[in-house]
Amino acid sequence: MRKVWTSLFVILGLMTLFACQQFFGEKTISSTKAIQKLKVSQQKAVNLFEDIKYVILVIGDGMQLEHEIAASQYLHGTPAGLSFHQLPFKAHMSTWDATTYNRFAWIKGVEPYNPETFTPGLAYDVFAAGLSPFPLNKPWSKETEYLLQRAVAYGENDFNLETAPKDYKKKFYLCTDSAAAATAMATGRKTEAGNISWDYGGKDGAAYGKSELDGDPENAPFKTICEILKEQKDGFFGTVSTVPFDHATPAAFISHNSDRNNFYKGRNPWYDGKGLAESIFYDVQPDVVIGGGFPKNFDKKGSKFSGYISTDIYDRITNNLTDYVMAGPQKSGNGHYAPQYKTIAEAVSDINNTHSRFYQSKLVALYGKKNWTGPFASNGKYTRDFEGTTPMNSTDPLVESDPMEGGIPNLEHAAIQAIKLLLYRSALNNDKPFFLMVEEGDIDWANHDNNYRWMLGTVWEMNKTVDAICRYIDSNDRGENANASNANDRMNWNNTLLIVTADHSNSYMRLKRDASGNIFLGKGQLPIQTPTKAGTGKGQYPYIGNFTYSDEVRYGSDYHTNELVMVYAKGAGARFLSKYQGTWYPKTNIIDNTQLFRAMADAFQLKIN
Ligand SMILES: [Zn+2]
Repeated sequence: MRKVWTSLFVILGLMTLFACQQFFGEKTISSTKAIQKLKVSQQKAVNLFEDIKYVILVIGDGMQLEHEIAASQYLHGTPAGLSFHQLPFKAHMSTWDATTYNRFAWIKGVEPYNPETFTPGLAYDVFAAGLSPFPLNKPWSKETEYLLQRAVAYGENDFNLETAPKDYKKKFYLCTDSAAAATAMATGRKTEAGNISWDYGGKDGAAYGKSELDGDPENAPFKTICEILKEQKDGFFGTVSTVPFDHATPAAFISHNSDRNNFYKGRNPWYDGKGLAESIFYDVQPDVVIGGGFPKNFDKKGSKFSGYISTDIYDRITNNLTDYVMAGPQKSGNGHYAPQYKTIAEAVSDINNTHSRFYQSKLVALYGKKNWTGPFASNGKYTRDFEGTTPMNSTDPLVESDPMEGGIPNLEHAAIQAIKLLLYRSALNNDKPFFLMVEEGDIDWANHDNNYRWMLGTVWEMNKTVDAICRYIDSNDRGENANASNANDRMNWNNTLLIVTADHSNSYMRLKRDASGNIFLGKGQLPIQTPTKAGTGKGQYPYIGNFTYSDEVRYGSDYHTNELVMVYAKGAGARFLSKYQGTWYPKTNIIDNTQLFRAMADAFQLKIN
């Protein structure tokens, strides 16, 4: 295949351009812009042999293209105005997991997923669901039917779509969950729903309607990009998320477990093994972990910790008994100390100070809004702006002026602090590489809730975060006036790969368009959004979940879908992504989520067997 890639390069380039033209619409893309796109390809070739030292992967959990367009329309009145829409590399990504594959295999009566012999088209059918995500896939009319179908399980092993009675026992979604999706991106391997960088039980697993846990082998972790980077290049790594630090997506990059719900040892009565938090802080040991999940009730007598971190781990860290220091709310009591630092910035600057006793410590920063355990960003902070009488606008001074307003960091602030920590660590260690995963995790939560306003707030925050990361790579620490990438900067576009994507789609949301494709909702416009009783209209399209909407917006589901997601990238390292386009799905721009891992590993020049 390698020889073919070279000859396909020009064709793939033209196809990418074609996709961009479709995306931006003929009205907004000029031939000058098209030429600029081609120039980016030439620049890639010039930098072909430079080392990629830094890879930053930004994930919008449960975000599909239509959500991006909705946020862009609201903020800019155009469909492609977000920061990540401006990144030069664009592709589409398949997200199915082994569970999805096995359910389709079950319907079709063929062999379950086998990493050696699988058929990609079984788990994502481009002819039924589209060569590209909506609205780029207009020629395909069967999309709704395909993406909203479910596998119907009747009884244990006796499944037949034709004969199953209407009072079916259970309907199974034909799409990935966040644990398996993140595992694919973190390890390059497909697994089953619920598994955190952990092998699955094959055909005896969830596909046949049994528990998701059935059949999971013991001691079967998949090595993550972080572990391989550390092993082979002595590199550094970390994660930042707006949802709890050991929630499925960040967890899959920095820990291992057969069940995403085993947050820490002793959390669940049915499981006494090592939890995700033990795996993170005692085994994998990322250099920086920022997220929600500060313990609840720990300062109250008679109360036990609950949530995402154990009493034991919290106490060890705050008693200076580990390699970690903690930033978080300055709460103490009931025999527990407060975190060493209040803010992330304070912690990062102290860790980077040669005179500090915590010089070069590893950092965990935990925050949260809902009793401290909820997501630290959009759910608590930005919903207010969207649900208030005055819709938020993109220059809301309340948000821009203070990154720690109310003691809760925003994602952009947290991400930049994590980059500063990792970049400094790299600088101190012969420019060793680093990997950082940044997740806006509650886009998915907003979409499960079918909550348009909340969704806008989350995508908006992701948009600002990507913008901040780009500006940081442009200028490093040289200040506001520096805006061009400079090869003398430690981190620049020649040695960095920035990827922005989603782990899966969610909610099958669609915006109303006129005959020429113009979206009804313009800049600053919101649909009329009315809370309703959950469950009304289940099983229909349009789906009516927790809200009803004026006809500018429709939902098809309150769960994930198998729809393709977008991949955006910038930096010389983007060439490592383009070589995978269309290899699983010929004549498309699709890469698979496992190939995203491959591209990152290639960029770091890691040996993957
Ligand atoms: Zn979800």
